[in-house]
Amino acid sequence: MEPLTLWGFLFFSGALFGSFIFTTAKRLAQGQSLLTPSRCDACGAPISPLGLVPFVGWLVQRGRCRACKTPISWKYPCFELINGLWVCWVFAQNGLNGAGYFTLAITELFWLLALLDFLSLEIALTPLLLALLLRGAELTFFAPEQFIDALIGLFAGAGVLHWVRSLYFFLRHREGLGEGDATLLGLIGFWLGWQALLPVLFLASLLGVLFALTLILFRFATIRQEFAFGPWLILASFVFWSFQPLLQPGRLFY
Ligand SMILES: [Zn+2]
Repeated sequence: MEPLTLWGFLFFSGALFGSFIFTTAKRLAQGQSLLTPSRCDACGAPISPLGLVPFVGWLVQRGRCRACKTPISWKYPCFELINGLWVCWVFAQNGLNGAGYFTLAITELFWLLALLDFLSLEIALTPLLLALLLRGAELTFFAPEQFIDALIGLFAGAGVLHWVRSLYFFLRHREGLGEGDATLLGLIGFWLGWQALLPVLFLASLLGVLFALTLILFRFATIRQEFAFGPWLILASFVFWSFQPLLQPGRLFY
């Protein structure tokens, strides 16, 4: 395939898969079945095959349901765009090889975890365990030399946040972080190695606090409100993964 065709294909597959991930997250968060065909949230009208094509469907319908004219969330095309770009970025970093496919599969599960945490304030166990298994397989087949770093990352990651959580509970007498966030940081340590834990935790806290302060400042939220921390941990781990080759020139993970 011509390079341009290949990138176009990767981008479009990523957008299509992004649409699937977004719909899955929404349905799981609302407790709906994953197997029913897509319908309009407002009136229940089935969505035409053309309407399911990333961007095109949204544009053709001018962002509205055909039957009842209720606006369809801009978040759909937005996440499709992000995921299309992400797929290209992962393969640009790794090349079209086994490591690339593993990274893609693991990070798509991370996207699902992030969206689910945003929607339901919970870290879902099934995608988390799937990502752990995939990373275990990747380490076994492609990178056995990283096993020790990854295992330390897994236990240190889960452990550190567990202690932060207990301390917060001791000081404020209420839950600040979920148990899920601790397990999620364990997974991130297992994926990127223990070296990533502190930078990721620091960047995630910074992003999360800035986001919460912005919402509170513009009165979209109150100081007592619960915020999801998982998406910031995941975003920070993506940033770390993306810039890892620059951070550690002598010690590439891939
Ligand atoms: Zn409708």
